Amino acid sequence: MATPQPRRVPGNRGEHFAVLDPATGEAFGEAPDQQPEELDATVGRAQEAWHGWRANPAARTTALLAAADAVEAAGSELAPLLTREQGKPLAESYAEIARTAARLRYFARLDPCPQPISDGRPVRGEVRWRPLGPVAAIVPWNFPLQLASAKFAPALAAGNTMVLKPSPFTPLATRLLGSVISTALPEHVLTIVTGHEPLGARLASHPGIRHVTFTGSVPTGRAVARGAAASLARVTLELGGNDAAILLEDVDVERIADRLFWAAFRNCGQVCMAVKRVYAPARLYSQVVEALAQRAKTTVVGAGLDPGSQLGPVNNAPQLARVERYTAQALADGARAVAGGHRLDRPGYFFAPTILADVPPDSPVVTEEQFGPVLPVVPYGSLDEAVAAANDTGFGLGGSVWGTDLDRAEAAADRLECGTVWINHHAELSLAQPFAGTKESGVGVAGGPWGFYGNLRPFVVHRPEEA
Ligand code: NAD
Repeated sequence: MATPQPRRVPGNRGEHFAVLDPATGEAFGEAPDQQPEELDATVGRAQEAWHGWRANPAARTTALLAAADAVEAAGSELAPLLTREQGKPLAESYAEIARTAARLRYFARLDPCPQPISDGRPVRGEVRWRPLGPVAAIVPWNFPLQLASAKFAPALAAGNTMVLKPSPFTPLATRLLGSVISTALPEHVLTIVTGHEPLGARLASHPGIRHVTFTGSVPTGRAVARGAAASLARVTLELGGNDAAILLEDVDVERIADRLFWAAFRNCGQVCMAVKRVYAPARLYSQVVEALAQRAKTTVVGAGLDPGSQLGPVNNAPQLARVERYTAQALADGARAVAGGHRLDRPGYFFAPTILADVPPDSPVVTEEQFGPVLPVVPYGSLDEAVAAANDTGFGLGGSVWGTDLDRAEAAADRLECGTVWINHHAELSLAQPFAGTKESGVGVAGGPWGFYGNLRPFVVHRPEEA
């Protein structure tokens, strides 16, 4: 989905743009509207900072560990700001900040190992790992800090410097995070830039950038890849998903219902690897629909800053319109809204948690990524049919299988065409695992040592055994 432009602050000569609180729809802050031409100087400074930053791995580790401490210490400043601009409940903002600090610590402690090459000849070869240079990151609005850290933590730990652009819907917490982290790092090692398109496009195609790591939608991912082709920079793309959850015949519906519900609705469904469609065996169909609907009806929806809220608003007006469109189309296609099905009659971008039953399997809410608090439940006859339906998508990010017999569940999970499968839960990631979608869900690998090495280039030295 192309990011629509937040409105400009009137009368300020276009130098800043308004940031809206999705719980009210009102502006509450503003961010600099940086122009694409300003990037030349920013990338130039990142290039200069790179020479010092790459030179001393031990100093890097110390600085990144100190940055993690600084992030944690700033939690009470960062969390309310993140909730205000993104909409998520405050506890989830704190969790995002904790994850950011944990990721900095994880990557700070990784060290690229030189690897010997031996093919039996009397020449010794060794692969050493070198940083790439100044690199770029472009981030969406659903997990602004967590996704930013997924980019800067491995990139900086590997010895690169980075210019990072958050979504114009959520620039403020990222700017604050940048300032907090910068207290522990040399100048210009990490620079946050904010503004509208074509700022991201210029960053992706900038000749001084050696790697572009992007998280967002498939169409923008294609545009980023096209842009990076100009300088032949390396590209890592983490794109959309339409994860299926398959419930098996032996599933204990009441036991898993809470987990399944929150795997779909956390962060108001705005999670790339949320459960976005449920396949339930025909025999259990009504029970599954009822268990999910009951949870949807009793979930407390409200502003993220209200301590009682379990679910916040959708992040922005265009996204809310998108969720409404998918839901209206499903209802027109013959689906039943067993819970929700409409936006809430109050200011802000609130949509009622929605469970859709009797959805035709070819309705766009099933075949595309709705990215909101709406969950279609589809009945199936045989497991083969469910697996085929789950795989019948251009996406391949994640998937899950739910049942009591774990061997049987794992055998079914093994048949899903995606990057990560879970059994009896969904969307939990370890910092130490590779995260990589297949098909249109992405290019390249993030996370764990695999993601770390993606920020480095091999540098091979051959030398004879004797002079
Ligand atoms: P988006 O693609 O509209 O925007 C993402 C970022 O790209 C924003 O910072 C935006 O300003 C920037 N951008 C827009 N046009 C650009 C261009 N031409 N060149 C360079 N940058 C440009 O996505 P979004 O609406 O912000 O986020 C939602 C999407 O992100 C969903 O599809 C979701 O699945 C995906 N997502 C994927 C992952 C993952 O890890 N796979 C994680 C979170 C979100």
